[in-house]
Amino acid sequence: MDTKLLIGDRMEGGTEKAESILNPRTGAVILDLPEASSAQVDAAVDAANRAFTKWSRTTPAERSGYLLQIADRIESEAQGFAELEALNCGKPVNCALNDEIPAIVDTYRFFAGAVRTMTGMVAGEYLPGMTSMVRRDPIGVIASIAPWNYPLMMMAWKLAPALAGGNTVVFKPSEQTPLTALKMAGILADVLPAGVVNIVPGRGETVGNQLVNHPLVNMISLTGDIATGKKMLQAASRSVKRTHLELGGKAPVIVFDDADISEVVEGLTAFGYYNAGQDCTAACRVYASDKVHDKLVADLSSAVSKIKYDLKDDTQNEIGPLISGRQRDRVASFVERARELKHIEITTGGRSHGENGFYYEPTVVAGAKQEDEIVQREVFGPVVSVTRFSDTDQAVNWANDSGYGLASSVWTKDIGRAMETTARLQYGCTWVNTHFMLTTEMPHGGLKQSGYGKDMSIYSLEDYTAVRHVMIKH
Ligand code: NAD
Repeated sequence: MDTKLLIGDRMEGGTEKAESILNPRTGAVILDLPEASSAQVDAAVDAANRAFTKWSRTTPAERSGYLLQIADRIESEAQGFAELEALNCGKPVNCALNDEIPAIVDTYRFFAGAVRTMTGMVAGEYLPGMTSMVRRDPIGVIASIAPWNYPLMMMAWKLAPALAGGNTVVFKPSEQTPLTALKMAGILADVLPAGVVNIVPGRGETVGNQLVNHPLVNMISLTGDIATGKKMLQAASRSVKRTHLELGGKAPVIVFDDADISEVVEGLTAFGYYNAGQDCTAACRVYASDKVHDKLVADLSSAVSKIKYDLKDDTQNEIGPLISGRQRDRVASFVERARELKHIEITTGGRSHGENGFYYEPTVVAGAKQEDEIVQREVFGPVVSVTRFSDTDQAVNWANDSGYGLASSVWTKDIGRAMETTARLQYGCTWVNTHFMLTTEMPHGGLKQSGYGKDMSIYSLEDYTAVRHVMIKH
């Protein structure tokens, strides 16, 4: 297993305190990984800073070539990457292999193409005797900080547009899930010029904190919790760094009375529980119209009770455990507090599962009210709440009554109602009659406290480049 950091052209072990990397299915230690020291973080930023001069002057075609090589290498080692991600995160290996790896490979390929076809304002004489043109140039050294729910995919969403845009990167994976990033270190060392990407594992308060406060870092890119995002903004304010923040979510799902309930149930069973609900777009906050509410709760509870997990034959598993005992206990405490409310019924699930691993039963919380904690706060586990509504205004107001603004969905056969409701929702994405679907060409990112800045799509490439004006006197 790869355990070496990547710093410039060197691959070396971390020299600080070791973090135990756990297998969430069993709770067993996979390995103890020493984190990067302060000197190693400094060396990584220095290497990125030195590499920037040359890398930023490469042509889009050259950078495109590097990204295509990275994509090919991941594709050729797909099985190994999927197994490692499954081991470290507890994901069913087929989900990692068939859902995540193709999307990851596609991310590098998309940005390899996109950077060669960027468009912008036309050059011209906007003042007499002067020609103006707009450039899009790289920003510099990016500190990229990733969460634990999709480690290799978040790495792709951050590295591919940053590199395509001509930036260099110091990447910190989550301290809980560094294994695929460390496997990537070998590939990146083979493919890229030294220092273009550097990888320093470790905790947020040590390695992460030093990185985001480093004077040579020009931009911070974080996917993580809102509280962590606020810390990034404080760090950024000290030297006015750019920030790109993908924070949490609490996606509302509005089900009107003309929706196809069997499709809604199928969708919620898949998109509310995928990755054990550890997904910032998870369909976790359902608003069901009076007329369909009872049927939806009954059918959803029945379908959710059949979700397969913790089976010996991993090819049968649909979801895995939570990432840690702490996360499992956090999810359990949300459900316990909800259970204490008289109006709430846990119609399926509602307990931890198994002895050693970090499993939690797929759970439906019925009868939840808008003001309940289970409706308001991100649980980040396999738990979906259902709340009854009586008219469209109430549903839209409740959906928007949230600090989060990442993703949402509307389920109805009436196209006019779908468009009207979609227009009123304050979310970075709204799906109609589906949920959770992402495509590399389209932007992903939030409003409100879900953050700002887009992943994927040409908009991400814009976020990782700066608009500059050049004016030439004739
Ligand atoms: P987290 O905020 O605890 O950690 C994210 C990363 O930030 C980790 O690498 C961590 O080490 C680092 N970090 C923590 N404190 C830091 C500090 N002071 N300085 C620098 N770095 C620091 O989040 P998590 O628990 O790993 O991930 C779950 C969260 O991520 C959820 O809230 C989820 O919604 C969010 N998320 C959002 C998206 C999105 O696209 N919007 C995608 C995935 C996850």
